[in-house]
Amino acid sequence: MKPVLNVPGKSAGKNAASPAGSEASDLAYMDQALELAAAAELAGEVPIGALVINERGEVIGRGYNRTRLDADPTAHAEMVALREAAWRAANPRLTGCTLYATIEPCAMCAGALIQARIARLVYGAPDPKAGALHSVPSLAAHPALNHEYAVIAGVRAQACGARLSEFFRRCRARQASPPEPAATD
Ligand SMILES: [Zn+2]
Repeated sequence: MKPVLNVPGKSAGKNAASPAGSEASDLAYMDQALELAAAAELAGEVPIGALVINERGEVIGRGYNRTRLDADPTAHAEMVALREAAWRAANPRLTGCTLYATIEPCAMCAGALIQARIARLVYGAPDPKAGALHSVPSLAAHPALNHEYAVIAGVRAQACGARLSEFFRRCRARQASPPEPAATD
């Protein structure tokens, strides 16, 4: 599936200063996010990964879903990556940064990206139940918000979605109690 560029609002998003990024680098960073998703599964978590890169292309935040490990409903991959990036940048505003997530972020994470003033979000597979960018009304482009970010969907969509669906299939096969899909990113 070819990545779909969805720019909220009319232009590139009023605060999306330079949402630079080539298709090739998006694929390479998404591969790193997929490695984080694999690490989540090894840790007994739902396999979702995220990373933050700055304007120079340096990875400044990495995260994977760890809601069970931390007993923290907010410990989604994107939140963990944002926290590390903000700590590393010594700044709660990650202006010019891009966040990569293997799955479409939920409402909490989509809101956190606004708080972080992120320039650009790239995600892999849609989350039809909880995704807050396309699957339910977009949280990135509401006209009342004071910040918008560019959204690129469908990067490595097949691989990102397959890791998750195979995980849940194995959970069902083991008749273990699979984690709630609503808390999966
Ligand atoms: Zn989330």
